[in-house]
Amino acid sequence: MKDKFAVQRERMVQEQLIRRGIKDRRVIEAFLKVPRHLFVDRAYLDEAYNDYPLPIGYGQTISQPYMVAIMLERAELEPHHRVLEIGTGSGYQTALLAEIVKEVYSVERIPQLAERAREVLESLGDENVKIKTGDGTLGWEEFAPYDRIIVTAGAPKIPEPLKEQLSPEGGKLLIPVGPRYSQVLYIVTRRGDEYEIEKDSPCVFVPLIGEEGWEE
Ligand code: SAH
Repeated sequence: MKDKFAVQRERMVQEQLIRRGIKDRRVIEAFLKVPRHLFVDRAYLDEAYNDYPLPIGYGQTISQPYMVAIMLERAELEPHHRVLEIGTGSGYQTALLAEIVKEVYSVERIPQLAERAREVLESLGDENVKIKTGDGTLGWEEFAPYDRIIVTAGAPKIPEPLKEQLSPEGGKLLIPVGPRYSQVLYIVTRRGDEYEIEKDSPCVFVPLIGEEGWEE
């Protein structure tokens, strides 16, 4: 018999993702597999698969499933990719990425969140993930360049270090850019020293705080 969370997960994928147009098979498979309820606070267990973001403490949120799916689909992920994620938060998107691509690097500025995400990912046996505490607006130089960089917090502008750490061979940066409380998802594609910027969906993320982001 299927557990109740697997049933809720299938419903989430059908009603919130597929019905709204998400098509990427790898993204859909990952959403069916990753237990989102392990990434929310116990108090919200029964709401884990609902159609909205939830608080994860320290003023931060786990994103709405559909928003995560949009970002992952737009990223056009391939199994051989090495991906940098900025804003680990709960680690939910990190776990989805770990299902789809070869290597995931994730940076979170709040140490307690980074530690909790690390524990959940370890318990799931995800071995292709590295998480560090730090200012993600500076990227993670050590493992650059990345095929994809996905930022899950809203930025006032595109941080230069992230552009520099993108692969020059078609690397893509996905980042919400705009005023503090409403942004547009930017997709930046790098070819050599050329950066093409495409503006995608409107979105609302918590602020990206750091040297190349907002002040605290
Ligand atoms: N994908 C995550 C989203 C968490 S919200 C999830 O679904 O759980 C965004 C996260 O970005 C927060 O945890 C916040 O602390 C973090 N953040 C904000 N500014 C940051 C920065 N400069 N570097 C790294 N993380 C940052």
